[in-house]
Amino acid sequence: MLVDSHCHIEMPEFDDDREAVIERARAAGVGFLLVIGDATNQESLAAGRVLAERTHIATTAGMHPHQARDWSDRTREFIASAVRDPRVAAIGEVGLDYHYDYSPRSDQRKAFEEQAQLAASMEIPLIVHCREAESDVHRVLARACRPGRLNGIMHCFTGNLEFARLMYELGFLISFSGIVTFPRAAAIQEAAADLPDDAILVETDAPYLAPVPHRGKRNEPAFVRYTAEALGRLRGRSADEIAALTTSNFFRLFPGLRKDDSPVH
Ligand SMILES: [Zn+2]
Ligand SMILES: [Zn+2]
Repeated sequence: MLVDSHCHIEMPEFDDDREAVIERARAAGVGFLLVIGDATNQESLAAGRVLAERTHIATTAGMHPHQARDWSDRTREFIASAVRDPRVAAIGEVGLDYHYDYSPRSDQRKAFEEQAQLAASMEIPLIVHCREAESDVHRVLARACRPGRLNGIMHCFTGNLEFARLMYELGFLISFSGIVTFPRAAAIQEAAADLPDDAILVETDAPYLAPVPHRGKRNEPAFVRYTAEALGRLRGRSADEIAALTTSNFFRLFPGLRKDDSPVH
């Protein structure tokens, strides 16, 4: 069984064939999906919650760094109330994106810090997005998160092994996306090869970042198996072993979400 620990199948890109996408995930052995909810978009949150009525899907709520210029006390209160819904399993995605810089960096840091503190105070996992902002992400999380417990997921990992180890020490699981299948991803592949077994997850980030051999097309949860296969090659393990490891890591972070081992439907 595989878990897609990060996807956006509530997005309009899937409106025409969402049921077929879930059916293909089921056929590919995917047993659980975490659908990321955008706290600035009521339709996204509502669609995520409808999906999360299924036994094998949960959702989240958080403000992405791209939208951080709109952060306010109201947003924080809204997220705090959204995560009281048992279908909403985490705060996220939150973080820093210095690659696109769609919001000023000071706004990004404020929104990230407050959401990280909220997750820590509510003892709810945090889903972190980081693009070219490794040292600031580490600084914020080192201050907000309690060491010695599992605090969340570093999603779509694009850093190097050293950063991956620092995040793991802070209690974050490192989630690899289809990028790990791209030929020029040497630093990410090194992290994927060397991290401990209890540190790794797989995700699609669908509809983005489809793995090889579907690179450039719309991504979907069934394709998470290509990422598991790539991790298997890098770690000298079978794809099934990677699936078992990453699935047990996911449910260590979200023990309440494990219902049974049947595939998503
Ligand atoms: Zn992201
Ligand atoms: Zn995402």
